Amino acid sequence: MVYCPTCGAELRFDIVSQTMVCGSCKNSFDPGVLSDDSSHDAKTEEYFDSYAFDEIDQARLKRKELFEFDSACIFAINMNVRKITIQSYGKINESITDSYARSITDNVKNYATAGNYFNCASAAFSQMLDVCENRSIS
Ligand SMILES: [Zn+2]
Repeated sequence: MVYCPTCGAELRFDIVSQTMVCGSCKNSFDPGVLSDDSSHDAKTEEYFDSYAFDEIDQARLKRKELFEFDSACIFAINMNVRKITIQSYGKINESITDSYARSITDNVKNYATAGNYFNCASAAFSQMLDVCENRSIS
């Protein structure tokens, strides 16, 4: 879809004048100089992708691609530097605070050190659930 650069209304192609004409403000534009919105979005997404400099950023981008929830916890293991991160967004951040996130990553880091990434993730999510349901974590 192409939109009017002047007023933002939808443009339609006028066969007679071979230009894009705005139905609202009646301006006409050379189709060659107009860019459509979807290609702009793709560029923006590409820009952000190239700036996903760490594992949390990559997970954050992936989450946006897969889910539409505003509230989420991201658990990431960076195997290169053996770093575990939990980041929470939205409402769940009231329960899984940064302080709890650090405690949980401390509690489960031994699994990752031993190379047991599945148990590491499993224990982390189990403890996140404990925190959300007001159970104490050791
Ligand atoms: Zn217009």
